[in-house]
Amino acid sequence: SAKDAGRGGFHFFAAWMAEQAAANRALESDLRSALKSGELSLAYQPIVNSQTHQVIAREALLRWNHPTRGDVPPDLFVPVIEDAGLIGQVGNWVLREACREAAGWEDEARVAVNVSSAQLAAGSVLVGHVIHALGTSGLSAQRLELEVTESIFLADDSTTRATLEQLRAVGVRLVLDDFGMGYSNFNCLVSGAFTKVKIDRSFTAAAARPGRPPERAIIESILTLARGLRLEVTAEGIETAEQAEQMTLLGCGQLQGFLFGRPAIPPAPAPLDRVATRPVPLLPHRPRAA
Ligand code: C2E
Ligand code: MG
Ligand code: MG
Ligand code: MG
Repeated sequence: SAKDAGRGGFHFFAAWMAEQAAANRALESDLRSALKSGELSLAYQPIVNSQTHQVIAREALLRWNHPTRGDVPPDLFVPVIEDAGLIGQVGNWVLREACREAAGWEDEARVAVNVSSAQLAAGSVLVGHVIHALGTSGLSAQRLELEVTESIFLADDSTTRATLEQLRAVGVRLVLDDFGMGYSNFNCLVSGAFTKVKIDRSFTAAAARPGRPPERAIIESILTLARGLRLEVTAEGIETAEQAEQMTLLGCGQLQGFLFGRPAIPPAPAPLDRVATRPVPLLPHRPRAA
C-alpha cells in the first residue's frame, strides 16, 4: 500500500541520514587532524578589470588535500567545519593566511576572503580576528574584501547588521556574493553595507546564450541598481570570451572565472593564450624576506 511505501521511504531516509551522519563524523575527525598537519591551503583566483584585464583582487579559496580522498571540495567540507564548531578557528586561519600572503603582492591587489554566516553570527569574535589579521600582516584595511552570501539576510537579524557595520568601521570592503541565487534581496544592496556585488555564475552563463535570455534582464537591472548605488560589480564564472564580452558590454566592471585564471596555489598568472583581448599582466610574486 501507499502507507507501506511511505514507511519504506522513511526507513530509507533514516538509513541515508545515519550514513550521512557517519560520513560527516569521519570527515570531521579527519578535519581536526588536517588542521594540525597542514593539509589545508588557500588557492587564489584573479578578479580583473573588464576593460584593462588588470588584476584588481584575488579571491582566497580554501583547499583540503586529504591524504587518501585527495582534494575535497569546500562546498562539501565547509558545512562540516561549521557543524563541528570549528569555523571560527579555520576562518581565523584563512583570514591571517590571506592577509599575510596579500601583504607580499607587488601589484597591491586586494584579497577577497569568504566569510560564512556562522562566522558573522559570532559577531565581535570575527571583528577581532579581522583586526588581528590586518595588524599582524600590515595589510591596509581597504585591501581586504569580505565576501558574504545573501542567504545571511534571510535571518535579517540586527546582530548581523551590527557586525557588518563594525567591519565597515574597521575599513574593510564588504561584498555580497552569489547575488541572484536563492532569495534575491535587493534590500541587501540598498542597505548601504556593501561596496560590491558579485553576480552568480548561473546568470553569467545565461547572458551569452543567443536570443534574449530572461536572465539578461535581471543582470541589466542589477547593473542599473549598482550604478545608482555606486557599487562595484563582479561577474562570476566567466569561462568563455563571449561571456566576457557580453558582461563587459552590459557594463560590468569586473570579471572572474576560469578564462582569466583558475584558483591556483601559489597565485598563478593568467594563461595568456586563453584571454581574448589584452593579456593579464604577469603577477610579480615578491619572495618574502627570510
Ligand atoms: P564562491 O565564494 O562563490 O567561490 C567561487 C567558486 O566558483 C569557487 O569554487 C571557484 O573555484 C568557482 N569558479 C570560479 N570561476 C569559475 C568558472 O569560471 N567556472 C566554474 N564552473 N566555477 C568557477 P570552490 O573553490 O569550489 O568554492 C566553493 C564555495 O566554497 C565558495 O563559493 C565559497 O562559498 C566556499 N568557500 C571557499 N573557500 C572558503 C573559505 O575560506 N571560507 C568559507 N566560509 N567558505 C569558503
Ligand atoms: Mg566568494
Ligand atoms: Mg561566489
Ligand atoms: Mg558560489
